[in-house]
Amino acid sequence: MSSKRDYYEVLGVSKDASESDLKNAFRRLARKYHPDRSQEPDADSKFKEAQEAYAVLSDSQKRAQYDRFGHDGPQGFGGFGGGGFNINIEDLFGGDFFSSFFGGGGSSRSSRRSRGNDILMRHAVELSSLVEDNQIELEADLPTSCKSCEGTGAVNGEMITCSTCNGQGRVRKVVRTGPFQQQVITDCEDCSGRGKIPKSVCRDCGGTGKTIESTKIRFTIPAGSDTGTRLRMRSRGEPAPNGVGESGDLLIEVEVLEHPWFERNNTDLIMSLPVGYSDLVLGRTVTIEHIDGAPLDIKIPKNSNSGDTIEIKRRGLPSMRGKYRGDVIVLLKLFMPKKVNKLVKKQLEDMRESTSPDNFMEAIKHDAKLRRR
Ligand SMILES: [Zn+2]
Ligand SMILES: [Zn+2]
Repeated sequence: MSSKRDYYEVLGVSKDASESDLKNAFRRLARKYHPDRSQEPDADSKFKEAQEAYAVLSDSQKRAQYDRFGHDGPQGFGGFGGGGFNINIEDLFGGDFFSSFFGGGGSSRSSRRSRGNDILMRHAVELSSLVEDNQIELEADLPTSCKSCEGTGAVNGEMITCSTCNGQGRVRKVVRTGPFQQQVITDCEDCSGRGKIPKSVCRDCGGTGKTIESTKIRFTIPAGSDTGTRLRMRSRGEPAPNGVGESGDLLIEVEVLEHPWFERNNTDLIMSLPVGYSDLVLGRTVTIEHIDGAPLDIKIPKNSNSGDTIEIKRRGLPSMRGKYRGDVIVLLKLFMPKKVNKLVKKQLEDMRESTSPDNFMEAIKHDAKLRRR
Protein backbone atom coordinates (compact mmCIF):
# COMPACT_ATOMS: atom_id res chain seq x y z
CA MET A 1 0.00 0.00 0.00
CA SER A 2 1.03 3.51 -0.66
CA SER A 3 2.32 5.66 2.13
CA LYS A 4 1.30 8.80 0.30
CA ARG A 5 -0.75 11.44 1.99
CA ASP A 6 -4.35 11.71 1.07
CA TYR A 7 -4.84 14.31 -1.69
CA TYR A 8 -7.65 16.04 0.16
CA GLU A 9 -5.47 16.24 3.22
CA VAL A 10 -2.61 17.64 1.15
CA LEU A 11 -4.78 20.44 -0.12
CA GLY A 12 -6.51 20.87 3.22
CA VAL A 13 -9.98 20.54 1.82
CA SER A 14 -12.89 18.28 2.57
CA LYS A 15 -14.00 15.36 0.39
CA ASP A 16 -16.85 17.40 -1.04
CA ALA A 17 -14.69 20.40 -1.91
CA SER A 18 -15.90 22.31 -4.96
CA GLU A 19 -13.75 23.13 -7.96
CA SER A 20 -13.11 26.62 -6.68
CA ASP A 21 -12.29 25.33 -3.20
CA LEU A 22 -9.62 23.16 -4.80
CA LYS A 23 -8.30 25.99 -6.88
CA ASN A 24 -8.09 28.35 -3.94
CA ALA A 25 -6.44 25.72 -1.80
CA PHE A 26 -3.86 25.03 -4.46
CA ARG A 27 -3.18 28.71 -4.98
CA ARG A 28 -2.58 29.15 -1.31
CA LEU A 29 -0.12 26.27 -1.25
CA ALA A 30 1.54 27.41 -4.45
CA ARG A 31 2.16 30.80 -2.94
CA LYS A 32 3.60 29.21 0.13
CA TYR A 33 5.74 26.56 -1.47
CA HIS A 34 6.58 27.59 -5.02
CA PRO A 35 10.29 26.74 -5.30
CA ASP A 36 11.08 30.08 -6.91
CA ARG A 37 9.67 31.95 -3.99
CA SER A 38 9.58 29.85 -0.89
CA GLN A 39 12.19 29.86 1.85
CA GLU A 40 10.82 26.67 3.44
CA PRO A 41 13.39 23.85 3.42
CA ASP A 42 11.02 21.24 1.96
CA ALA A 43 9.26 23.67 -0.40
CA ASP A 44 10.11 21.68 -3.49
CA SER A 45 8.56 18.42 -2.33
CA LYS A 46 5.62 20.21 -0.72
CA PHE A 47 4.96 22.05 -3.96
CA LYS A 48 5.13 18.85 -6.00
CA GLU A 49 2.81 17.13 -3.61
CA ALA A 50 0.28 19.93 -3.88
CA GLN A 51 0.66 20.03 -7.65
CA GLU A 52 -0.02 16.32 -7.94
CA ALA A 53 -3.01 16.48 -5.61
CA TYR A 54 -4.47 19.40 -7.50
CA ALA A 55 -3.83 17.84 -10.90
CA VAL A 56 -5.76 14.74 -9.91
CA LEU A 57 -8.61 16.31 -7.97
CA SER A 58 -9.24 19.08 -10.49
CA ASP A 59 -9.82 16.49 -13.20
CA SER A 60 -13.30 15.12 -12.57
CA GLN A 61 -12.54 11.72 -14.10
CA LYS A 62 -9.34 11.27 -12.15
CA ARG A 63 -11.00 12.51 -9.02
CA ALA A 64 -13.76 9.90 -9.36
CA GLN A 65 -11.14 7.19 -9.81
CA TYR A 66 -9.24 8.45 -6.82
CA ASP A 67 -12.34 8.54 -4.67
CA ARG A 68 -13.03 4.88 -5.52
CA PHE A 69 -9.57 3.38 -5.47
CA GLY A 70 -7.36 5.77 -3.55
CA HIS A 71 -3.72 6.00 -4.56
CA ASP A 72 -3.60 2.47 -5.92
CA GLY A 73 -5.51 2.92 -9.10
CA PRO A 74 -6.57 -0.09 -11.13
CA GLN A 75 -4.48 -1.64 -13.88
CA GLY A 76 -4.01 0.63 -16.84
CA PHE A 77 -4.74 3.59 -14.75
CA GLY A 78 -1.20 3.52 -13.51
CA GLY A 79 -1.85 5.13 -10.19
CA PHE A 80 -1.31 8.82 -9.91
CA GLY A 81 2.27 9.03 -8.85
CA GLY A 82 4.14 8.59 -12.09
CA GLY A 83 5.36 11.48 -14.16
CA GLY A 84 5.07 15.15 -13.58
CA PHE A 85 1.88 17.07 -13.44
CA ASN A 86 1.71 20.08 -15.58
CA ILE A 87 -0.52 22.71 -14.26
CA ASN A 88 -0.60 25.98 -16.03
CA ILE A 89 0.18 28.23 -13.14
CA GLU A 90 -0.31 31.39 -15.17
CA ASP A 91 -3.84 30.25 -16.03
CA LEU A 92 -4.63 29.48 -12.47
CA PHE A 93 -3.54 32.89 -11.35
CA GLY A 94 -5.24 34.69 -14.18
CA GLY A 95 -1.99 35.28 -16.04
CA ASP A 96 -0.67 37.32 -13.18
CA PHE A 97 1.30 34.73 -11.31
CA PHE A 98 3.96 36.83 -9.75
CA SER A 99 1.84 39.72 -8.70
CA SER A 100 -0.46 37.18 -7.07
CA PHE A 101 2.57 35.86 -5.29
CA PHE A 102 3.62 39.20 -4.07
CA GLY A 103 0.12 39.84 -2.85
CA GLY A 104 -0.09 42.81 -5.15
CA GLY A 105 2.73 44.72 -3.56
CA GLY A 106 5.57 43.03 -5.37
CA SER A 107 8.26 44.66 -7.36
CA SER A 108 7.14 43.26 -10.70
CA ARG A 109 3.83 44.98 -10.33
CA SER A 110 5.02 48.29 -9.09
CA SER A 111 7.71 48.57 -11.75
CA ARG A 112 5.09 47.90 -14.39
CA ARG A 113 2.90 50.56 -12.89
CA SER A 114 5.53 53.23 -12.83
CA ARG A 115 6.02 53.20 -16.59
CA GLY A 116 3.75 55.18 -18.88
CA ASN A 117 1.91 53.55 -21.75
CA ASP A 118 3.32 53.32 -25.25
CA ILE A 119 1.55 55.35 -27.90
CA LEU A 120 1.09 54.16 -31.46
CA MET A 121 0.85 56.77 -34.18
CA ARG A 122 0.40 56.17 -37.92
CA HIS A 123 2.22 58.26 -40.44
CA ALA A 124 1.38 58.15 -44.14
CA VAL A 125 4.08 58.76 -46.75
CA GLU A 126 4.27 58.84 -50.52
CA LEU A 127 6.04 55.97 -52.21
CA SER A 128 8.31 58.50 -53.88
CA SER A 129 9.59 59.66 -50.50
CA LEU A 130 11.08 56.23 -49.83
CA VAL A 131 13.94 56.50 -52.30
CA GLU A 132 15.94 58.26 -49.62
CA ASP A 133 15.82 58.59 -45.85
CA ASN A 134 13.05 60.96 -45.02
CA GLN A 135 13.26 63.42 -42.16
CA ILE A 136 9.89 64.30 -40.75
CA GLU A 137 9.04 67.05 -38.36
CA LEU A 138 5.48 67.44 -37.21
CA GLU A 139 3.25 68.52 -34.40
CA ALA A 140 1.10 65.94 -32.69
CA ASP A 141 -1.29 66.07 -29.77
CA LEU A 142 0.37 63.88 -27.20
CA PRO A 143 -0.14 63.31 -23.49
CA THR A 144 2.53 65.14 -21.54
CA SER A 145 3.25 65.59 -17.90
CA CYS A 146 1.01 68.34 -16.52
CA LYS A 147 3.09 71.47 -16.11
CA SER A 148 1.03 72.97 -13.28
CA CYS A 149 1.56 70.04 -10.97
CA GLU A 150 4.64 68.45 -12.55
CA GLY A 151 2.68 65.30 -13.16
CA THR A 152 1.78 64.72 -9.54
CA GLY A 153 -1.91 65.58 -9.95
CA ALA A 154 -1.74 67.82 -6.87
CA VAL A 155 -1.72 71.63 -6.67
CA ASN A 156 1.89 72.70 -6.07
CA GLY A 157 2.72 69.03 -5.86
CA GLU A 158 1.46 69.04 -2.26
CA MET A 159 0.56 65.58 -1.11
CA ILE A 160 -0.84 64.35 2.15
CA THR A 161 -0.70 60.90 3.68
CA CYS A 162 -3.49 58.56 2.60
CA SER A 163 -5.64 57.85 5.62
CA THR A 164 -6.95 54.55 4.27
CA CYS A 165 -3.55 52.88 4.32
CA ASN A 166 -1.74 55.28 6.65
CA GLY A 167 0.76 55.98 3.92
CA GLN A 168 1.66 52.35 3.43
CA GLY A 169 0.22 52.15 -0.08
CA ARG A 170 -0.96 48.68 0.77
CA VAL A 171 -3.81 47.29 2.74
CA ARG A 172 -4.45 43.90 4.25
CA LYS A 173 -7.56 42.09 3.25
CA VAL A 174 -8.99 38.94 4.70
CA VAL A 175 -10.02 36.42 2.09
CA ARG A 176 -11.96 33.27 2.91
CA THR A 177 -10.75 30.13 1.22
CA GLY A 178 -13.05 27.27 2.11
CA PRO A 179 -12.49 26.67 5.78
CA PHE A 180 -9.44 28.90 5.81
CA GLN A 181 -8.99 32.55 6.34
CA GLN A 182 -6.17 34.14 4.53
CA GLN A 183 -4.69 37.55 4.73
CA VAL A 184 -3.62 39.10 1.48
CA ILE A 185 -1.92 42.40 0.90
CA THR A 186 -3.15 44.52 -1.98
CA ASP A 187 -2.55 48.01 -3.29
CA CYS A 188 -4.61 50.65 -1.55
CA GLU A 189 -7.36 51.70 -3.92
CA ASP A 190 -7.69 55.21 -2.57
CA CYS A 191 -4.13 56.21 -3.35
CA SER A 192 -3.34 53.62 -6.06
CA GLY A 193 -0.57 52.27 -3.88
CA ARG A 194 1.24 55.57 -3.53
CA GLY A 195 0.51 56.07 0.14
CA LYS A 196 -0.14 59.72 -0.62
CA ILE A 197 -3.02 61.65 -2.10
CA PRO A 198 -3.11 65.21 -3.44
CA LYS A 199 -3.84 67.79 -0.82
CA SER A 200 -6.00 69.45 -3.46
CA VAL A 201 -6.50 68.06 -6.93
CA CYS A 202 -4.80 69.93 -9.79
CA ARG A 203 -7.45 71.59 -11.95
CA ASP A 204 -5.47 71.57 -15.16
CA CYS A 205 -5.24 67.80 -15.34
CA GLY A 206 -8.05 66.77 -12.99
CA GLY A 207 -5.52 64.92 -10.87
CA THR A 208 -4.32 62.64 -13.65
CA GLY A 209 -0.98 64.40 -13.89
CA LYS A 210 -1.30 64.46 -17.68
CA THR A 211 -2.46 66.96 -20.25
CA ILE A 212 -2.68 66.74 -24.03
CA GLU A 213 -0.20 69.11 -25.64
CA SER A 214 0.70 69.87 -29.19
CA THR A 215 4.20 68.47 -29.29
CA LYS A 216 6.87 68.82 -31.94
CA ILE A 217 8.40 65.50 -32.92
CA ARG A 218 11.19 64.70 -35.35
CA PHE A 219 11.96 61.31 -36.80
CA THR A 220 13.51 59.70 -39.85
CA ILE A 221 11.69 57.24 -42.05
CA PRO A 222 14.40 55.03 -43.52
CA ALA A 223 14.58 54.63 -47.29
CA GLY A 224 12.77 51.51 -48.46
CA SER A 225 10.34 51.40 -45.50
CA ASP A 226 7.07 49.63 -46.09
CA THR A 227 3.59 49.81 -44.66
CA GLY A 228 3.84 48.42 -41.14
CA THR A 229 7.44 49.50 -40.54
CA ARG A 230 7.60 50.80 -36.98
CA LEU A 231 9.91 53.39 -35.53
CA ARG A 232 10.36 53.58 -31.79
CA MET A 233 11.01 56.85 -30.03
CA ARG A 234 12.09 56.03 -26.53
CA SER A 235 10.35 57.80 -23.67
CA ARG A 236 8.22 59.95 -25.95
CA GLY A 237 5.00 58.13 -25.04
CA GLU A 238 2.66 58.66 -22.14
CA PRO A 239 4.30 59.94 -18.97
CA ALA A 240 4.51 57.63 -15.98
CA PRO A 241 1.57 57.79 -13.59
CA ASN A 242 1.90 60.48 -10.94
CA GLY A 243 4.98 61.89 -12.55
CA VAL A 244 7.17 59.19 -11.03
CA GLY A 245 8.94 56.72 -13.29
CA GLU A 246 9.72 56.29 -16.96
CA SER A 247 7.58 57.52 -19.80
CA GLY A 248 6.35 54.99 -22.34
CA ASP A 249 7.59 54.94 -25.93
CA LEU A 250 6.11 56.59 -28.98
CA LEU A 251 5.78 54.14 -31.85
CA ILE A 252 5.37 55.49 -35.33
CA GLU A 253 3.93 53.08 -37.85
CA VAL A 254 4.61 53.87 -41.48
CA GLU A 255 1.78 53.67 -43.98
CA VAL A 256 2.81 53.91 -47.63
CA LEU A 257 0.15 55.55 -49.78
CA GLU A 258 -0.98 53.99 -53.02
CA HIS A 259 1.04 55.16 -55.99
CA PRO A 260 -0.83 56.30 -59.12
CA TRP A 261 0.79 53.62 -61.30
CA PHE A 262 3.27 51.50 -59.39
CA GLU A 263 2.58 48.39 -57.39
CA ARG A 264 5.27 47.34 -55.01
CA ASN A 265 6.89 43.95 -54.57
CA ASN A 266 9.50 44.46 -51.85
CA THR A 267 12.04 46.64 -53.60
CA ASP A 268 10.71 46.08 -57.13
CA LEU A 269 8.17 48.42 -58.67
CA ILE A 270 5.71 46.97 -61.14
CA MET A 271 3.73 48.92 -63.73
CA SER A 272 1.91 48.27 -66.95
CA LEU A 273 2.44 50.31 -70.09
CA PRO A 274 -0.27 50.48 -72.73
CA VAL A 275 1.35 50.76 -76.20
CA GLY A 276 0.11 50.81 -79.76
CA TYR A 277 0.44 47.99 -82.24
CA SER A 278 3.01 49.97 -84.21
CA ASP A 279 5.05 50.51 -81.03
CA LEU A 280 5.21 46.76 -80.51
CA VAL A 281 6.19 46.02 -84.08
CA LEU A 282 8.59 48.86 -84.69
CA GLY A 283 9.90 49.40 -81.16
CA ARG A 284 9.92 52.70 -79.29
CA THR A 285 11.35 54.46 -76.28
CA VAL A 286 8.78 55.89 -73.89
CA THR A 287 10.14 58.33 -71.32
CA ILE A 288 8.17 59.03 -68.15
CA GLU A 289 8.81 60.82 -64.88
CA HIS A 290 10.08 58.64 -62.06
CA ILE A 291 10.05 58.61 -58.27
CA ASP A 292 13.82 59.13 -58.05
CA GLY A 293 13.59 62.43 -59.91
CA ALA A 294 15.45 61.25 -63.03
CA PRO A 295 13.46 60.42 -66.21
CA LEU A 296 12.73 56.74 -66.74
CA ASP A 297 13.41 55.52 -70.28
CA ILE A 298 11.38 52.46 -71.16
CA LYS A 299 12.91 50.92 -74.28
CA ILE A 300 10.44 48.72 -76.11
CA PRO A 301 12.39 46.44 -78.44
CA LYS A 302 10.99 45.91 -81.92
CA ASN A 303 8.81 42.82 -82.39
CA SER A 304 7.66 42.96 -78.77
CA ASN A 305 4.46 41.29 -77.76
CA SER A 306 1.63 42.37 -75.54
CA GLY A 307 2.31 40.66 -72.20
CA ASP A 308 6.10 40.93 -72.48
CA THR A 309 7.92 42.48 -69.53
CA ILE A 310 10.84 44.86 -69.59
CA GLU A 311 13.15 45.05 -66.59
CA ILE A 312 14.87 48.29 -65.82
CA LYS A 313 17.61 47.46 -63.36
CA ARG A 314 18.19 49.40 -60.13
CA ARG A 315 15.48 51.95 -60.57
CA GLY A 316 13.16 50.43 -57.98
CA LEU A 317 13.22 51.13 -54.23
CA PRO A 318 16.31 50.82 -52.08
CA SER A 319 16.43 47.98 -49.58
CA MET A 320 15.92 48.94 -45.94
CA ARG A 321 19.60 48.74 -45.17
CA GLY A 322 20.46 50.58 -48.36
CA LYS A 323 22.56 47.74 -49.74
CA TYR A 324 20.88 47.49 -53.12
CA ARG A 325 18.09 48.88 -55.23
CA GLY A 326 15.27 46.90 -56.77
CA ASP A 327 14.12 47.04 -60.39
CA VAL A 328 11.28 48.57 -62.31
CA ILE A 329 9.30 45.91 -64.15
CA VAL A 330 7.17 47.11 -67.05
CA LEU A 331 4.38 44.95 -68.43
CA LEU A 332 3.50 45.77 -72.05
CA LYS A 333 -0.17 45.88 -72.89
CA LEU A 334 -1.73 46.50 -76.25
CA PHE A 335 -3.55 49.80 -76.19
CA MET A 336 -7.02 49.78 -77.74
CA PRO A 337 -8.18 53.13 -79.12
CA LYS A 338 -11.74 53.87 -78.06
CA LYS A 339 -12.73 55.08 -81.51
CA VAL A 340 -11.16 54.80 -84.94
CA ASN A 341 -12.12 57.10 -87.79
CA LYS A 342 -12.85 56.11 -91.37
CA LEU A 343 -9.33 56.79 -92.58
CA VAL A 344 -7.76 54.60 -89.89
CA LYS A 345 -10.29 51.87 -90.62
CA LYS A 346 -9.22 51.94 -94.25
CA GLN A 347 -5.53 51.81 -93.25
CA LEU A 348 -6.14 48.88 -90.87
CA GLU A 349 -8.01 47.06 -93.61
CA ASP A 350 -5.02 47.51 -95.91
CA MET A 351 -2.69 46.25 -93.16
CA ARG A 352 -4.81 43.25 -92.33
CA GLU A 353 -3.36 40.90 -94.85
CA SER A 354 0.27 41.70 -94.02
CA THR A 355 -0.14 41.66 -90.23
CA SER A 356 -2.53 38.76 -89.57
CA PRO A 357 -1.46 35.12 -89.69
CA ASP A 358 -1.47 33.63 -93.24
CA ASN A 359 -2.81 30.41 -91.85
CA PHE A 360 -4.56 30.38 -88.47
CA MET A 361 -4.10 26.67 -87.96
CA GLU A 362 -0.33 26.99 -88.45
CA ALA A 363 -0.23 30.01 -86.13
CA ILE A 364 -2.20 28.21 -83.42
CA LYS A 365 0.17 25.24 -83.47
CA HIS A 366 3.24 27.47 -83.52
CA ASP A 367 1.99 29.48 -80.56
CA ALA A 368 1.26 26.33 -78.58
CA LYS A 369 4.79 25.14 -79.26
CA LEU A 370 6.26 28.43 -78.00
CA ARG A 371 4.06 28.34 -74.96
CA ARG A 372 5.12 24.82 -74.05
CA ARG A 373 8.78 25.35 -74.59
ZN1 LIG B 1 -3.79 54.58 0.49
ZN1 LIG C 1 -1.89 68.84 -13.07
